[in-house]
Amino acid sequence: MKKFLKIAGVIIILFFAGAIAWIFTNMKDRHPGYSANLNIINKTSLVLSAGFAAVPITPEVPDRWVDNNNDAKYKPKDGDTFTDGNGNGKFDPVWIAGFSNSKPANGIHDDTWARTMIIDDSKTRLAIVILDAIGFMNDDIVDVRKMIPAEAGVTYTIIASTHTHEAVDLIGMWGKTPFISGVNKEYMAFVKEQIVKSVVEAAKNIRPVKLEVSEDLTGALSQVKDTRKPEVFDAGMRMIKAVDRETGAVLGSLVAWADHPETLWSKNLLISSDFVHYVREGVEKGVFNGDSLMKPGIGGVCVYANGALGGLMTTHPSLTIKDPFTGQEFSEPTYEKTEAQGKNLSLLALNAMENPLETIESGGISMVVRTIPLKIDNILFKLGAMLGVMKRGTMGWMKMRTELAVISVGPISFATVPGEIYPELVNGPVDAPEGNDFGIQPVEVPVIRDMMPGKYKIVLGLANDEIGYIIPKSQWDVKAPYTYGRDNSPYGEENSMGPETAGVIRRNLQEMLGEL
Ligand SMILES: [Zn+2]
Repeated sequence: MKKFLKIAGVIIILFFAGAIAWIFTNMKDRHPGYSANLNIINKTSLVLSAGFAAVPITPEVPDRWVDNNNDAKYKPKDGDTFTDGNGNGKFDPVWIAGFSNSKPANGIHDDTWARTMIIDDSKTRLAIVILDAIGFMNDDIVDVRKMIPAEAGVTYTIIASTHTHEAVDLIGMWGKTPFISGVNKEYMAFVKEQIVKSVVEAAKNIRPVKLEVSEDLTGALSQVKDTRKPEVFDAGMRMIKAVDRETGAVLGSLVAWADHPETLWSKNLLISSDFVHYVREGVEKGVFNGDSLMKPGIGGVCVYANGALGGLMTTHPSLTIKDPFTGQEFSEPTYEKTEAQGKNLSLLALNAMENPLETIESGGISMVVRTIPLKIDNILFKLGAMLGVMKRGTMGWMKMRTELAVISVGPISFATVPGEIYPELVNGPVDAPEGNDFGIQPVEVPVIRDMMPGKYKIVLGLANDEIGYIIPKSQWDVKAPYTYGRDNSPYGEENSMGPETAGVIRRNLQEMLGEL
């Protein structure tokens, strides 16, 4: 008996030692010593160049997973035998990220992309890559940066996500169960290679340009709903069109707007970039009513970037979207609704681009970049990191590596935010409703856009990371009494790093903007 207890004791000790070793392996810093820090100030005026590329990251998926009787199985269960219709018996899905776990992609609706815009002033080369993904984490971004060849000449690469809820999981939270990473390793490796290709190709396409800046700050308000009080939006559309100085050809455009690309909502199992697909198509190729071209496109590569889409900017099924030509109204989440929204948005963008506010002939690129450690307060995120569901390392105990950047190109400025920031924190006003958990007045002031320099201020959301919601501390609300007369805690805090996150980000941006 004693011997048995001894053996049992050893087994238990080995088990715990193994578990601890496994947890530490999951949380090991994936890029020890890495820092993206940069401080480049250029006040001189130089000729600007730009280059664009669009490289697909569409996964290869069967039209549908079928069992061995050739019956469609949209939601396969353990024990089912599968073929992909091509005699491949292995059920090896890519999971669609967004809304819930266990959604295997069953076909492609539209290609997903790594689209790149490069801006260059002959001294500094900035690459902005936008992925059709729900998010892409900083450790993976650093992997990609290490893969970009020196010949591309890129000083700094921003990799941001459109946040489509209808594409492949690159974070890990949307796998078969909440406890197993949903990231398909082969697909992740493919995406990284395609991003590198996109940057290299954009660098090859660089030409001297004029940058035409345009805005429509109010027109798109009808296309987005705020499902969490206070009602504050980031609904202004901001565009940069790059025109070849010599030929007058449009090389490409950047269209920035803030809304969750989840108009297709939770039941869709086809890979799609949601409304973003129709925006880009409309801007490039024109907007059609049936077969009739109603508004010509500008050509080139359209790069769509999102902004402050937290707190919570969405085209909810309760929001009706009208087709701009037929007047038909859509509320149920369908591809028709998503297309109507894309038509509305691309029309607004194209109309604004016809009357640019300013044409920038020259300028200097300045940038301040910081890698920062961010404390994980959220127990679910801690578990996610420990269990390896989110494969991101830590720099110090329960501190994630993330990144901020502020950039100016002549009168245009950019600020990158590593997650889903509430528009209150970007545009103001930050609210401090009665019942907020800390009983405080707004702390994250002045707000980000008020601190940014230049005339045209573009905030890039989910840029260089996806750390979840970034919520004003004075709106934090997990404890009763609840704010705004709610009966329960609102949705948001469970997907945030913690109540201090917004303050840390704002404070760092303020210091960095001071240096810019
Ligand atoms: Zn989101």
